[in-house]
Amino acid sequence: METITEPARQVPVIARTDLLVVGSGPGGLSAAISAARMGVETLLVERYGCFGGNLTHVGVEGIGWYRQEHTVDVEGIGIEFESRAKAMGGSSPEPQSRSEAIDAEMFKVVADGWIAEAGVRPLLHSAVVGVVRAGESIAGVIVENKSGRGAILAKRVVDATGDADVASLAGAHVRKTARERMLPVTVMFSCAGVDRARFLEYVRTNPSKYADWGKEWAAALDGKEADMFSPYLERPFDQAREQGVIPEGLTSIGGTWSSISAQGEATYLNMVHMTGYDGTDVWDLTRAEMDGRRQALLAIRALQRFAPGFEAAKLRNFGMTLGVRDTRKIVGRYDLTEQDVRGQRRFEDRVGIFPEFIDGYGLLILPTTGRYFDVPFGALVPTGIDNLLVAGRSVAGDEISHAAVRNMMCCTVTGQAAGVAAAVSLHEGRTTARVDVGAVQRALRAQGVRL
Ligand SMILES: Cc1cc2nc3c(=O)[nH]c(=O)nc-3n(C[C@H](O)[C@H](O)[C@H](O)COP(=O)(O)OP(=O)(O)OC[C@H]3O[C@@H](n4cnc5c(N)ncnc54)[C@H](O)[C@@H]3O)c2cc1C
Repeated sequence: METITEPARQVPVIARTDLLVVGSGPGGLSAAISAARMGVETLLVERYGCFGGNLTHVGVEGIGWYRQEHTVDVEGIGIEFESRAKAMGGSSPEPQSRSEAIDAEMFKVVADGWIAEAGVRPLLHSAVVGVVRAGESIAGVIVENKSGRGAILAKRVVDATGDADVASLAGAHVRKTARERMLPVTVMFSCAGVDRARFLEYVRTNPSKYADWGKEWAAALDGKEADMFSPYLERPFDQAREQGVIPEGLTSIGGTWSSISAQGEATYLNMVHMTGYDGTDVWDLTRAEMDGRRQALLAIRALQRFAPGFEAAKLRNFGMTLGVRDTRKIVGRYDLTEQDVRGQRRFEDRVGIFPEFIDGYGLLILPTTGRYFDVPFGALVPTGIDNLLVAGRSVAGDEISHAAVRNMMCCTVTGQAAGVAAAVSLHEGRTTARVDVGAVQRALRAQGVRL
């Protein structure tokens, strides 16, 4: 590849902090707020103009859509995502579960207030583009924003970028699934002008089950969820293909709906599933954004023609950015496995639990029976850097474990664990790599985490 050499330059130090959290999705928000609640000086850096990660930037509203009557669920900060949104009128009952679908727009305001209340120092519109290494540690990061380029120095860092950007920039070992096997990317969209009563009547008379998931959504079930209701639509898109509204071979269109408001807004329409894109390749991102928008409009045309209730619907908005499910993951002190998440594994260094909920790589298992696995601290610890922890979807593990830990509620578990572990390590004066895990577990219990 052709290269040029950038001239060396002086970079101003724009902030110093005890803990720096990079990325504000379910993982980063949970990390920053949990640490700040322990009295730690915490700076939260986010590349976009609002906090929330996929929840607000993409419009992923179903944080607890897996929760059934007998689910043994997480406790801790994740539950506050639902309760705080609900208290502000920013959620509605999710159609397939015992959970709240969070209003992606309202959650921007929920997060602003939550951060202020916890005493987290916020910095928006700032992308981390470099790391300042100091021996085995990270001394800080380099950000770029409208003010220019600046350094933020920190004693501890949590990488909650979803893409393990900080770990990768610092030279930690990371891995990616091959592009052709990566989970699909999605341009999320919402519609206005839906006749809610007419659409829900159509769903009532044409109900879908998890066993109906087909085409790009096809997934093996373990049997117990096959006949359960799923807010999944395929028939209108098959009809659209038959009638030439959608090109015949284009099978990436079809999927789930979520909330339909009394005002006729259908939000979180997860109906464009495109494979073969790598979310860390900017040329792929560019093509996927553009093709995804094109496909979303085809989906709307199909809904208008073949989904009763959508006849007069129009596009309300696309997600602010493409939804990416699967990129880099760290190689950790411990790499979680399929056997761990499907075998109810218990770990000495557990920092939370997560129900046996697996969604991805051709497998869908819902936690209907109370089964759960322990989330080990080792999956948050990259090798070779002693003051960095990773939270959210890029924690260490194989493909099937990723299909579990990538879910937003599990990202809150690893986020809270990373924030609390960083706080304990600062209080103890030990690195995060050598932190007393027993003390971390006690601090997590004190914050209401189920261990
Ligand atoms: C289309 C789609 C549908 C999904 N549906 C569901 C669902 O129904 N339920 C569910 O539980 N999960 C769902 N998921 C998965 C879930 O949304 C993600 O796995 C989860 O949000 C990951 O959380 P995170 O905190 O690790 O990262 P993210 O939510 O991705 O947040 C990462 C944050 O870091 C910021 N960032 C990234 N790089 C940098 C940088 N270099 N500098 C500064 N900031 C940076 C980003 O802007 C972002 O705010 C879905 C995902 C997609 C894409």
